[in-house]
Amino acid sequence: MSRTRPYIQESAKELETLFESVKDDLPKVKRILAELKHRSTPSAVTLREKVERHLKGEAKTSKSHGPGRADEPPLPEQPSHHIVDCKGCNTRIRIPVKEVCVVYRCPNCHLSFEAEYRGGVMEIVFLPAQQEEHITEDSARSILGVAAGAPFAEIKTAWRRLSQQYHPDKHQGLPERLRRAAEIEMARINRAYQVLARASAEEF
Ligand SMILES: [Zn+2]
Repeated sequence: MSRTRPYIQESAKELETLFESVKDDLPKVKRILAELKHRSTPSAVTLREKVERHLKGEAKTSKSHGPGRADEPPLPEQPSHHIVDCKGCNTRIRIPVKEVCVVYRCPNCHLSFEAEYRGGVMEIVFLPAQQEEHITEDSARSILGVAAGAPFAEIKTAWRRLSQQYHPDKHQGLPERLRRAAEIEMARINRAYQVLARASAEEF
């Protein structure tokens, strides 16, 4: 099945003007939307969201459509959301349907997966869980910034100080990427502390 793109030549701006003028003509609006899905410029993405909102409102408010519907074949419906069952913990995750590959993370178990809507199908690929870095006593000391032979009280103080610095509550306002980095560092700090706590316990 070959896809035609009647609006391939139009700029996002021209498509917006067109959209405004054919708003009630559902098949035309859907064709504009189909064209926008091929594009990733900010103006096209913004317009696409606007068109999608319009279509959603349309579907809710009425079942009657403008002229031109009878002689134009309808485009396949694309759902706006998709439910993913997390492979790690079975949590049901609702994600937006996008024709670009997006990586999501389960809010519960933090397993990552890629999602992409392609050829009418939502493709989900779970990414392998991140290998936990093995932390030796030496690397634990360097993570916490304490010297070899430092007393446990000192290790605990260092861990407290770093935990405060990297605590997730302190990074709510940061972009996702940085929050994630702080989260990973926090986990590393905790593991380093556990390694040293265990080691000092064994000395008795
Ligand atoms: Zn999960």
